[in-house]
Amino acid sequence: MFENLSERLSGVFDRLTKQGALSEEDVKTALREVRVALLEADVSLPVARDFVKKVQDQATGQAVTKSVTPGQQVVKIVHDALVDVLRGEGDPGKLKIDTPPAPILMVGLQGSGKTTTTAKLAKRLKDRDGKRVLMASLDTNRPAAMEQLAILGNQIGVDTLPIVKGEDPVAIAKRAKTQASLGGYDVYMLDTAGRLHIDQELIQQAADVRDVVKPRETLLVVDGLTGQDAVNVATEFDDKIGVTGVVLTRMDGDGRGGAALSMRAVTGKPIRFVGLGEKMDALETFEPDRIAGRILGMGDIVALVEKAQETIEAEQAEKMMRRMAKGQFNMNDLKMQLEQMLKMGGMEGMMSMMPGMSKMAKQVEEAGFDDKVIKRQVALIQSMTKKERANPQLLQASRKKRIAAGAGMDVSDLNKLLKMHRQMSDMMKKIGKMGKGKMLKQALS
Ligand code: GDP
Repeated sequence: MFENLSERLSGVFDRLTKQGALSEEDVKTALREVRVALLEADVSLPVARDFVKKVQDQATGQAVTKSVTPGQQVVKIVHDALVDVLRGEGDPGKLKIDTPPAPILMVGLQGSGKTTTTAKLAKRLKDRDGKRVLMASLDTNRPAAMEQLAILGNQIGVDTLPIVKGEDPVAIAKRAKTQASLGGYDVYMLDTAGRLHIDQELIQQAADVRDVVKPRETLLVVDGLTGQDAVNVATEFDDKIGVTGVVLTRMDGDGRGGAALSMRAVTGKPIRFVGLGEKMDALETFEPDRIAGRILGMGDIVALVEKAQETIEAEQAEKMMRRMAKGQFNMNDLKMQLEQMLKMGGMEGMMSMMPGMSKMAKQVEEAGFDDKVIKRQVALIQSMTKKERANPQLLQASRKKRIAAGAGMDVSDLNKLLKMHRQMSDMMKKIGKMGKGKMLKQALS
């Protein structure tokens, strides 16, 4: 998927990669092409414009890391920005369906894949979450659509509400609600009628059903191949009915992918799932990382980005190391180091990058150093003034009291932090004096 966009971006970055350093002009040129590519991929103009501006702000003034190529660096920035726009809050696969029977309203245009998605999602809820699910079709205009849902239900082993001829959608919804309660179902899914275009009657019908069942989730099913139209459809449905999430179908096709980006940016609604085929298990939780990687059209983009990140961190560590060796280890350095530890998921990763640190890692571990402690220490340092951070010797009783109070802790906590800083600082000096050869030896020992 997203071939057109990805090819375009690959071209831009190939050209960039061949050049030496990343100048402002390079960034501009690359981003101009990114913008054109986004527009060609059916991303709406304001979204493309905003996106490029954001990336440009981030990229400009960023030092070129010597171990990655300028192209890689731009890729990383664009990738991160894409993920940023695409990501919603929380886990996209987690639906609010805790209180049984929880109604889920499925809305969307005819042919978007609404009925198929209803069944796919029902299967997922049954198989993965062990939910008892009841499905009901409200498409009274098209008996074939009601039949289709019954057939799919049979196929996946999920119950459907028996079809009663002549009933209107609201009556069916009420019956589904009653049946779900009496039958002890955890979830009931209502597959509303679709139309080829949005019309007043369709919207009114969905709104009436909504008012009767008060859905916990209202999922809008949108054909991922429709690009810009998808955004208009989403806006309309959200305005009139209120949508809690989006499912993008046909993401297995060679669509242009613009829908994912602009729909998210314009409606602000989280994309929850993507449909990746006609089969009943071809539904996956939306993963912004993966989609961003695919938009960029580089299969190994995530690995590449991680590698770049590692390199950048290693360089930072090296720089800090040099400062430490000169005995310049202040509270800012300590804070940076503590934050790195948090980011890297513990002491070990961080220490392993710094020669001579393996022994200390053990000591710190024995002292009961965990993430919570680290976070508290960072809070203490944040409570210091700039001057105090640069020169911890300034910290006399009154300052200590203020700092501890500012971080909501006791002076004894601060004293512990200062002691650790002193010990580390001494050790840094020693290591510094040892010189490079010995440092290496100690690291290897
Ligand atoms: P509805 O009118 O919105 O209920 O649409 P349907 O559920 O009947 O789907 C229309 C067609 O799209 C059917 O042939 C489905 O098999 C197909 N379809 C639905 N979702 C996907 C998908 O994610 N990928 C592909 N390739 N086809 C899909």
